[in-house]
Amino acid sequence: MSYEGVKYNTEYISEIVPADNRIDELRKWCRIFHEKELAPHYPGGTHGNMSFRVNPEKDIFIITAARTSFAEELSPEAFFTVTAVDLKNAVVYVSGSKTREPSSETLLHFAIYRERSDVMAILHGHCKTITQHAEKLGIVTTKEFVEPGTVKVVDSVLEVLDNHHFIEMKGHGFLSLGKSINEAGLLAMEMLKKV
Ligand SMILES: [Zn+2]
Repeated sequence: MSYEGVKYNTEYISEIVPADNRIDELRKWCRIFHEKELAPHYPGGTHGNMSFRVNPEKDIFIITAARTSFAEELSPEAFFTVTAVDLKNAVVYVSGSKTREPSSETLLHFAIYRERSDVMAILHGHCKTITQHAEKLGIVTTKEFVEPGTVKVVDSVLEVLDNHHFIEMKGHGFLSLGKSINEAGLLAMEMLKKV
Protein backbone atom coordinates (compact mmCIF):
# COMPACT_ATOMS: atom_id res chain seq x y z
CA MET A 1 0.00 0.00 0.00
CA SER A 2 1.42 3.37 -0.97
CA TYR A 3 1.49 6.43 1.24
CA GLU A 4 -2.00 7.70 1.96
CA GLY A 5 -1.25 11.42 1.55
CA VAL A 6 -2.80 14.45 3.13
CA LYS A 7 -6.11 15.31 1.47
CA TYR A 8 -7.11 18.48 3.31
CA ASN A 9 -5.77 22.00 3.77
CA THR A 10 -3.72 22.89 6.81
CA GLU A 11 -3.96 26.35 8.39
CA TYR A 12 -1.07 27.10 10.73
CA ILE A 13 -2.43 29.19 13.61
CA SER A 14 1.00 29.33 15.23
CA GLU A 15 4.34 27.62 14.85
CA ILE A 16 4.55 26.63 18.48
CA VAL A 17 5.15 22.88 18.71
CA PRO A 18 3.07 21.15 21.37
CA ALA A 19 4.53 20.66 24.83
CA ASP A 20 2.63 18.13 26.94
CA ASN A 21 3.94 15.41 29.24
CA ARG A 22 1.78 12.82 27.51
CA ILE A 23 3.76 13.21 24.27
CA ASP A 24 6.39 10.88 25.72
CA GLU A 25 3.69 8.26 26.24
CA LEU A 26 2.70 8.69 22.59
CA ARG A 27 6.36 8.30 21.58
CA LYS A 28 6.52 5.09 23.59
CA TRP A 29 3.53 3.61 21.75
CA CYS A 30 4.90 4.72 18.37
CA ARG A 31 8.00 2.68 19.22
CA ILE A 32 5.97 -0.34 20.38
CA PHE A 33 3.73 -0.23 17.29
CA HIS A 34 6.85 -0.18 15.14
CA GLU A 35 8.45 -3.09 17.01
CA LYS A 36 5.30 -5.21 16.97
CA GLU A 37 4.65 -4.35 13.31
CA LEU A 38 1.30 -2.83 14.18
CA ALA A 39 2.38 0.17 12.11
CA PRO A 40 4.54 -1.00 9.19
CA HIS A 41 7.30 1.05 7.66
CA TYR A 42 7.30 2.42 4.10
CA PRO A 43 10.03 4.49 2.43
CA GLY A 44 9.76 7.85 4.23
CA GLY A 45 7.41 7.01 7.04
CA THR A 46 5.15 4.66 8.96
CA HIS A 47 1.58 3.53 8.22
CA GLY A 48 -0.10 4.71 11.35
CA ASN A 49 -0.89 7.76 13.42
CA MET A 50 -1.66 8.51 17.04
CA SER A 51 -3.34 11.24 19.03
CA PHE A 52 -4.63 12.16 22.46
CA ARG A 53 -7.21 14.68 23.60
CA VAL A 54 -5.62 17.57 25.49
CA ASN A 55 -8.59 18.47 27.69
CA PRO A 56 -11.62 16.27 28.45
CA GLU A 57 -13.92 19.26 27.89
CA LYS A 58 -12.70 20.08 24.40
CA ASP A 59 -12.10 18.44 21.03
CA ILE A 60 -8.53 19.78 20.91
CA PHE A 61 -5.92 17.07 20.47
CA ILE A 62 -2.25 16.42 19.80
CA ILE A 63 -1.47 14.21 16.80
CA THR A 64 1.59 12.82 15.05
CA ALA A 65 2.72 14.44 11.81
CA ALA A 66 2.28 12.99 8.33
CA ARG A 67 5.28 11.15 6.85
CA THR A 68 6.58 10.26 10.30
CA SER A 69 8.76 7.23 10.87
CA PHE A 70 8.01 5.36 14.10
CA ALA A 71 11.40 3.64 13.68
CA GLU A 72 13.09 6.77 15.04
CA GLU A 73 12.65 8.83 18.20
CA LEU A 74 10.02 11.42 17.26
CA SER A 75 11.22 15.03 17.37
CA PRO A 76 9.01 17.84 18.81
CA GLU A 77 8.25 18.89 15.20
CA ALA A 78 6.60 15.49 14.64
CA PHE A 79 3.58 16.58 16.71
CA PHE A 80 0.76 19.06 16.13
CA THR A 81 -1.90 20.57 18.32
CA VAL A 82 -5.14 20.46 16.34
CA THR A 83 -7.23 23.37 17.60
CA ALA A 84 -10.16 23.15 15.17
CA VAL A 85 -11.35 21.20 12.14
CA ASP A 86 -13.77 22.22 9.43
CA LEU A 87 -14.98 18.83 8.23
CA LYS A 88 -17.25 20.22 5.54
CA ASN A 89 -14.46 22.11 3.78
CA ALA A 90 -11.67 19.74 4.93
CA VAL A 91 -9.58 22.39 6.68
CA VAL A 92 -7.43 21.57 9.71
CA TYR A 93 -6.26 24.36 12.05
CA VAL A 94 -3.06 23.55 13.86
CA SER A 95 -0.26 24.81 15.99
CA GLY A 96 3.08 23.32 15.03
CA SER A 97 6.05 23.40 12.70
CA LYS A 98 5.41 24.66 9.15
CA THR A 99 8.03 22.22 7.93
CA ARG A 100 5.57 19.38 8.51
CA GLU A 101 1.89 18.55 8.11
CA PRO A 102 -0.41 16.84 10.62
CA SER A 103 -1.36 13.19 10.03
CA SER A 104 -3.34 12.32 6.91
CA GLU A 105 -6.10 10.95 9.19
CA THR A 106 -6.55 14.13 11.26
CA LEU A 107 -10.17 14.54 10.06
CA LEU A 108 -10.98 11.06 11.33
CA HIS A 109 -9.39 11.60 14.74
CA PHE A 110 -11.32 14.86 15.13
CA ALA A 111 -14.64 13.29 14.18
CA ILE A 112 -14.19 10.48 16.72
CA TYR A 113 -13.34 12.91 19.54
CA ARG A 114 -16.35 15.03 18.65
CA GLU A 115 -18.61 11.98 18.65
CA ARG A 116 -17.23 10.22 21.73
CA SER A 117 -16.53 12.27 24.85
CA ASP A 118 -15.23 9.12 26.59
CA VAL A 119 -12.35 8.76 24.12
CA MET A 120 -9.11 10.41 25.22
CA ALA A 121 -6.70 8.67 22.82
CA ILE A 122 -6.80 7.15 19.33
CA LEU A 123 -4.11 4.90 17.93
CA HIS A 124 -4.28 3.87 14.28
CA GLY A 125 -2.21 1.11 12.74
CA HIS A 126 -2.18 -1.36 9.88
CA CYS A 127 -1.86 -5.00 10.85
CA LYS A 128 -2.40 -7.79 8.34
CA THR A 129 -2.78 -10.39 11.08
CA ILE A 130 -5.55 -8.47 12.83
CA THR A 131 -7.24 -7.73 9.47
CA GLN A 132 -7.26 -11.43 8.56
CA HIS A 133 -8.83 -12.44 11.86
CA ALA A 134 -11.14 -9.46 12.38
CA GLU A 135 -14.31 -11.35 11.62
CA LYS A 136 -13.40 -14.35 13.76
CA LEU A 137 -12.60 -12.07 16.68
CA GLY A 138 -15.88 -10.23 16.26
CA ILE A 139 -14.16 -6.92 15.57
CA VAL A 140 -16.59 -4.38 14.19
CA THR A 141 -15.60 -3.53 10.61
CA THR A 142 -16.57 -0.69 8.28
CA LYS A 143 -18.86 -1.75 5.45
CA GLU A 144 -16.56 -1.09 2.53
CA PHE A 145 -13.10 0.13 1.61
CA VAL A 146 -12.88 3.87 1.16
CA GLU A 147 -9.83 5.92 0.27
CA PRO A 148 -7.79 6.69 3.41
CA GLY A 149 -7.53 10.32 4.53
CA THR A 150 -10.84 11.39 3.01
CA VAL A 151 -14.08 12.64 4.57
CA LYS A 152 -15.60 9.38 3.28
CA VAL A 153 -13.43 7.50 5.78
CA VAL A 154 -14.93 9.64 8.52
CA ASP A 155 -18.46 8.72 7.42
CA SER A 156 -17.65 5.02 7.10
CA VAL A 157 -16.23 4.89 10.65
CA LEU A 158 -18.96 6.97 12.27
CA GLU A 159 -21.51 4.64 10.71
CA VAL A 160 -20.27 1.70 12.79
CA LEU A 161 -18.55 3.47 15.71
CA ASP A 162 -21.31 3.23 18.34
CA ASN A 163 -19.57 2.59 21.70
CA HIS A 164 -16.87 0.33 20.26
CA HIS A 165 -13.24 0.69 21.25
CA PHE A 166 -11.63 -1.33 18.49
CA ILE A 167 -12.62 -0.90 14.84
CA GLU A 168 -11.25 -2.37 11.65
CA MET A 169 -11.45 -0.14 8.58
CA LYS A 170 -12.07 -2.50 5.69
CA GLY A 171 -8.98 -3.04 3.56
CA HIS A 172 -7.09 -0.39 5.49
CA GLY A 173 -6.24 -0.79 9.18
CA PHE A 174 -7.46 -0.61 12.76
CA LEU A 175 -8.42 2.07 15.27
CA SER A 176 -7.86 1.53 18.97
CA LEU A 177 -9.64 3.95 21.30
CA GLY A 178 -9.08 4.47 25.01
CA LYS A 179 -9.55 6.65 28.06
CA SER A 180 -5.77 7.08 27.96
CA ILE A 181 -2.95 6.46 25.48
CA ASN A 182 -1.87 3.43 27.49
CA GLU A 183 -5.37 1.97 27.50
CA ALA A 184 -5.65 2.31 23.71
CA GLY A 185 -2.18 0.84 23.24
CA LEU A 186 -2.83 -2.12 25.52
CA LEU A 187 -6.10 -2.85 23.70
CA ALA A 188 -4.25 -3.11 20.38
CA MET A 189 -1.70 -5.43 22.00
CA GLU A 190 -4.51 -7.56 23.40
CA MET A 191 -6.00 -7.92 19.91
CA LEU A 192 -2.63 -8.91 18.51
CA LYS A 193 -2.23 -11.52 21.25
CA LYS A 194 -5.64 -13.02 20.46
CA VAL A 195 -4.73 -13.78 16.84
ZN1 LIG B 1 -3.94 4.12 7.76
